[in-house]
Amino acid sequence: MADLNLNQIHKSFGALEIIKGIDLDIQSGEFVVFVGPSGCGKSTLLRMIAGLEDVSSGTLTIDGKDVTHAEPSERGIAMVFQSYALYPHMTVAENIGFGLSLAKRPKAEIAAKVQAAADTLQLTHLLERKPKALSGGQRQRVAIGRAIVRDPKVFLFDEPLSNLDASLRAQMRLELSELHARLKTTMVYVTHDQVEAMTMADRIVVLNGGRVEQVGTPMELYNHPATPFVAGFIGSPK
Ligand code: ADP
Ligand code: MG
Repeated sequence: MADLNLNQIHKSFGALEIIKGIDLDIQSGEFVVFVGPSGCGKSTLLRMIAGLEDVSSGTLTIDGKDVTHAEPSERGIAMVFQSYALYPHMTVAENIGFGLSLAKRPKAEIAAKVQAAADTLQLTHLLERKPKALSGGQRQRVAIGRAIVRDPKVFLFDEPLSNLDASLRAQMRLELSELHARLKTTMVYVTHDQVEAMTMADRIVVLNGGRVEQVGTPMELYNHPATPFVAGFIGSPK
């Protein structure tokens, strides 16, 4: 678990400013959802938190420690992508354990952690399969398993369910909420899907054009949208 603080985070690509000064305090154990239209900078923001993209200016702290320029591996963060990014030639077990193998963890520890993650994600019977023999939902569970075994302080999710069909998305929403309840880890979840935001978030951050439009609980945003943009995106129809 970790507190995550964003302080005047800016990001430009060349002359184009994409993220325009974001301030945010995320509490330890919170499930925070960044929601906003395609192109508003959600992935860029998440990638900066993960250390996969340089911050142009501003500071980022985790548990009070300045990690603005820290290596990704030093941040205690694990990220789950929309595209799963599984290794096709490896089994489910090898995919889940890959990061630990790279880090040269003892084999017994890797096996135990892979087993525990597989139990959590209902993948135990699939450990020897290759990704191509899995459904979309199972592949996404493997990607989540790969994050879990690293015991991150913070999980980042970038539209992890958008490649799944509607009924599977609904099921995975529940599973991710249960996972959060069990692990109590800080989770930052990016989506353009209002339903995901409304059903999963402790707090929602509405982004628009690289700025925060409003931060609040789902009910606060639904009942008291601060701007017409928030109302149109999330608020009650009036
Ligand atoms: P979202 O995830 O909300 O759809 P992104 O963070 O992917 O938005 O992108 C925000 C904006 O930044 C888009 O206009 C995108 O084209 C631009 N962008 C993202 N990455 C780069 C890059 N590496 N170079 C230039 N522009 C980029
Ligand atoms: Mg994106």
